[in-house]
Amino acid sequence: MSLFKDIKALLLGFWTTGKHIFLRPLTIEYPEQKRTPFPRYRARIVLTRDPDGGERCVACYLCSAVCPAGCISMQAAGQADGRRYAAWFRINFSRCIFCGFCAEACPTMAIQMTPDYEICNRKIMELVYEKEELLIDGCGKEPEYNFYRHSGIGIVNPRGGNVDEEPPVDVRRLVP
Ligand code: SF4
Ligand code: SF4
Repeated sequence: MSLFKDIKALLLGFWTTGKHIFLRPLTIEYPEQKRTPFPRYRARIVLTRDPDGGERCVACYLCSAVCPAGCISMQAAGQADGRRYAAWFRINFSRCIFCGFCAEACPTMAIQMTPDYEICNRKIMELVYEKEELLIDGCGKEPEYNFYRHSGIGIVNPRGGNVDEEPPVDVRRLVP
C-alpha cells in the first residue's frame, strides 16, 4: 500500500513538471526587463494638487495618525485666507509598509499611492522624502476633485456657495 502511494506521488510530481515544461516561462530578467504593475499597485507615495494647482494637503494629520508604521510627520500652517497647508511634510520610506491606510484616510485625496516600485536605496537617509520630493504637479487619481469646493468650508466661497453644495440649513426654521 505504501509502495503504491509512493509511485502515485512520484507520477503526480512528473505530471506536474510535464504540464509546465512547455509553457511560456514567467521569469522576468529585472532590471533589464520591467514588469508593468496593475494600476492600483501600492508603491511610492505622492502628494497631489487640486485642479486649480493648489496643494491638496490641509495638514489634518489623519494620514499620520492612521499610519501603523509611524512614518509620516508634518507641521501644519495657515495661509492668509485661512486655508491650511503643510509647512513641511515627511515620509520615511524605510519604515513604510505600503499598506495604503494613509491614502484611504486622506479626506482631500492629497496623499496617493502610485505603481512606481523602484525606490529601493541602500542609503537609508535617502529614503526619507521631504515635501519637495513628494509633491507632484498633477492631480493623480480623481482629477476633478477639489476639497475646498466640496467641503462646505467658507474659505473659497461662502457657505452654500460651492459647487454641488446645498445651502446650509437655517436651524431656527426647524424649531416648532
Ligand atoms: S502606506 Fe501605510 S505604512 Fe506607508 S505611509 Fe501610508 S499608512 Fe504609513
Ligand atoms: S495628506 Fe491628507 S490625510 Fe495627510 S495631512 Fe494631508 S490632507 Fe490630511
